[in-house]
Amino acid sequence: MKVYNSLTRRVEDLSPLEGNEIRLYTCGPTVYNFAHIGNFRAYTFEDVLRRVVQFNGMKIRQVMNLTDVDDKTIRGANAAGVALTDYTKTYKDAFFEDLKKLNVQPAEVYPAATDHIPEMIALVQKLMEKGVAYQSEDGSVYFKVREFPGYGKLAHIDFDNQRTGLRCAADEYDKENVGDFALWKAWEESDGPVGWDSPWGRGRPGWHIECSAMSMKYLGETFDLHTGGIDNLFPHHENEIAQAEAATGKPFVKTWMHCAHLKVNGEKMSKSAGNFFTLRDLIEKGYTGREIRYVLINAHYRTGLNFAFSALEDARKSLARIDACVEQLGGCKVEKPEGCGADNAPEWARKCLEDFAAAVNDDLNIPSAFAALFDLVRQTNAHVEEIKQSSNQTVKQSVLSVFRRMDEVLGVIFFGNEKKAVEIPAEIQALLDARAEARKAKNWAESDRLRDEIAAAGWAVKDSKEGQTCTRK
Ligand SMILES: [Zn+2]
Repeated sequence: MKVYNSLTRRVEDLSPLEGNEIRLYTCGPTVYNFAHIGNFRAYTFEDVLRRVVQFNGMKIRQVMNLTDVDDKTIRGANAAGVALTDYTKTYKDAFFEDLKKLNVQPAEVYPAATDHIPEMIALVQKLMEKGVAYQSEDGSVYFKVREFPGYGKLAHIDFDNQRTGLRCAADEYDKENVGDFALWKAWEESDGPVGWDSPWGRGRPGWHIECSAMSMKYLGETFDLHTGGIDNLFPHHENEIAQAEAATGKPFVKTWMHCAHLKVNGEKMSKSAGNFFTLRDLIEKGYTGREIRYVLINAHYRTGLNFAFSALEDARKSLARIDACVEQLGGCKVEKPEGCGADNAPEWARKCLEDFAAAVNDDLNIPSAFAALFDLVRQTNAHVEEIKQSSNQTVKQSVLSVFRRMDEVLGVIFFGNEKKAVEIPAEIQALLDARAEARKAKNWAESDRLRDEIAAAGWAVKDSKEGQTCTRK
């Protein structure tokens, strides 16, 4: 398995530093709002990454932090007049629901920043002892960038020779040396009830220290892999390296991977441009998590992804083609019988799987992997008569196993309930349930009344032997 390492700027082998397990840290969401599809591009990229690690027989231990204290969460909670934990809980829950809709495998640990304040204070203390941090007059504690010689190695910026670069950033900073960043922020009135006691007075941790403290707690002082969106690379990840390596004197992370931006209809996503979408917005429009996942992963992670509605329509068609093909082999529900694995598949199917494996191991070339999948679809369709006529089930099952094997990485074929075209909202489902009850009781007047109520809300009900089916009108 080869991946592009942002630190060395080379494509390198990814193999575990210890045992057979890749230890992966992924910067998670700030839980002040519903995550948007740009965020989910990064989370689905990380999902594919962890799936490819497992596809290759390695284990994975993934940690994803939840930033539940920062300017935005505090502002939101105070504006809503609720406790910070209550405010962030809504968005934490929403985040996990969204990940499920996109068939993202859960990380092994989701540490929340507010549960790890002592670990962060301990790390800041260590940096103070090492002389790479100082408390300024405003009470906040800063990292002294000039005391860490490797600063800039991830972003490939030579800070000693780039004074202009530093001056450009000066407006954003409020401390003695422009590049220094906050490890601990002193309490301000706008923080309201949010704050923790520390050796430097009441305050809260900076964002960067959160990731260094929690990654090292769960993955060790040196670990395999750290990822995020490209906009996390500088300064966030550069600062994570500085904090961790200045504290431990050891290399922090071997491989860094970053995924590129997402644009919508060719433009940067923004609320003012009217092209800002959360996952929920797209599901409201009638697209499924499965279709959205398909579009999000079907571009190389290091190239910009242009998210367009036409791509969602194409995804729907492509998925229908895959479904129709898999259906001929007995469909998604067939359990894999013993001895019918991908290894027993006909040569043409094994060749598709080889191409697929080569693609995913070539720095996660998912577009090529999809090409191998569609090659399998084409070849299966071409061989379908001989598959059906084969006297034993082995051929059919083994080809199905090849689809399954590919889907271990893609996660778009065997998608469970998400296959239905539209998600039915809870209030409509409640009406449907009531209508099913009414029909059971042969109360046709009530059944018709509920049908009209459902119709008025924009949904159409059809009755069949199997029960009701409901579609958006
Ligand atoms: Zn982070």
